Amino acid sequence: MKKRILVTGGAGFIGSHLCERLLKEGNDVICMDNYFTGNKQNIIHLLDNPYFELIRHDVTHPFYIEVDEIYNLACPASPIHYQFNSIKTIKTSVMGAINMLGLAKRTKAKILQASTSEVYGDPEVHPQCEDYWGNVNPIGIRSCYDEGKRCAESLFFNYHAQNKVAIKVIRIFNTYGPRMHPNDGRVVSNFIVQALKGQDITIFGDGKQTRSFQYVDDLVEGTIRMMNSRDDFLGPVNIGNPNEFTMLELAQQVIALTGTQSKLTFMPLPEDDPSQRQPDITLAQKELDNWTPKVELKEGLIKTIEYFDRILKSPQ
Ligand code: NAD
Ligand code: UDP
Ligand code: UDP
Repeated sequence: MKKRILVTGGAGFIGSHLCERLLKEGNDVICMDNYFTGNKQNIIHLLDNPYFELIRHDVTHPFYIEVDEIYNLACPASPIHYQFNSIKTIKTSVMGAINMLGLAKRTKAKILQASTSEVYGDPEVHPQCEDYWGNVNPIGIRSCYDEGKRCAESLFFNYHAQNKVAIKVIRIFNTYGPRMHPNDGRVVSNFIVQALKGQDITIFGDGKQTRSFQYVDDLVEGTIRMMNSRDDFLGPVNIGNPNEFTMLELAQQVIALTGTQSKLTFMPLPEDDPSQRQPDITLAQKELDNWTPKVELKEGLIKTIEYFDRILKSPQ
């Protein structure tokens, strides 16, 4: 049955892949975005699909529409962007969640929240399970994002408890792929763009900090499975790839795959930068029909490098 699905932040990196996939599955997709970090290029190929609708709107303002499902992704995701206007980031997470939950309550739509591994802060437990409460600095430079997302999770569970809203919460771990913003400062896009331009590759700190990188297609699969999971499974559930790499290892892979002459340059580690991060995905595998990430780092990097190579060569 064709569902009417709202994707907030649908013109962003992850949102655009999600819209594409939901359309492929035969749904009616409404993409809402204020284009803060997203852009029309990401979804331009969907515009002539009669089942795709694009609406410029800011999620911090009320939004009235009739839908069956909502994927709430609207929020800047990279440190540079979410720190650019930190108050707006908090409003987007918190007021955005309230408005979308209000919409879900009125329309009886099922609503999924794109939360983040950042709710674990700089984790003292490794790898991170969903029952770990996190180690977040509430007044640090990342708090606008971390605490905003934590408050959104709380709102989701309270709307469920108090108003019986059907909720789903996923905690997304570092995700990469085509349509990442080239200037958003995230490590995968930075390293690839630097390598392709022959510039030095900027390692923050000693490069021994770790992250676990998930290719966007694996995330989209996990996200849709979560939306369609049994009614009493609300999450939060980690969606990520447990293969963990140091930033030095990532840089070496990017150098090898691009064949660049770029050298490494070491820069100060940003404040509150987590030293390690790796999802425990046991719960996702159990509840989401044996979902597991399939794309290895090398394969995903090759696709992402192809994308950046293309956009760097094309006139803006
Ligand atoms: P992105 O910046 O590419 O996408 C976010 C989208 O939200 C953009 O299109 C932006 O214009 C839009 N947006 C921002 N503020 C808005 C507002 N007030 N109203 C309407 N639209 C607004 O980032 P992404 O990586 O695609 O992230 C999507 C979601 O996934 C975010 O909620 C993010 O927190 C979450 N997430 C991403 C990652 C990751 O590694 N990419 C990790 C954890 C969580
Ligand atoms: N809201 C919205 N669209 C809707 C229904 C509600 O944007 O279709 C907003 C509404 O503006 C409100 C918020 O969602 O501020 C929370 O709604 P709720 O019903 O929980 O709160 P109330 O309206 O009682 O303050
Ligand atoms: N990083 C880096 N060089 C860069 C950009 C980031 O070494 O040019 C590091 C950053 O300090 C962090 C890791 O890479 O330790 C991942 O950073 P990103 O911003 O991609 O994600 P997050 O810190 O939110 O996980």
